[in-house]
Amino acid sequence: MQPGLNLKTSEISDTHLKGKHTTTFAQMHFWHFGGNVIDTPGVREFAMIDIEKEEVQHYFPEIFKKREECKFHNCLHINEPKCAVIDALETGEIQHSRYATYIKLMDEAEEAAQK
Ligand SMILES: [Zn+2]
Repeated sequence: MQPGLNLKTSEISDTHLKGKHTTTFAQMHFWHFGGNVIDTPGVREFAMIDIEKEEVQHYFPEIFKKREECKFHNCLHINEPKCAVIDALETGEIQHSRYATYIKLMDEAEEAAQK
């Protein structure tokens, strides 16, 4: 009896964990992902796997391209000085909704790194 109970508890907590992830992701999708980038399989997985913060921009072609103009080659486009991405945000060259998604995914990447 007891082993069976343990097994069942473990199954429930697994399911709960997955459910939680799915919900978080669905909310992100709903609130932030107005663009098309999130619909690519790579990004869909990306929200749940470990990824370096430096790699997040690879999923945003317009940000990735702009980074060549940033003052620092390791710029993460958050609050660095002379950041071409932030400049492009101000001129409307990069959409705020896209940038918001980028920041959101950066947060995700940081959380994942801390686990
Ligand atoms: Zn930058």
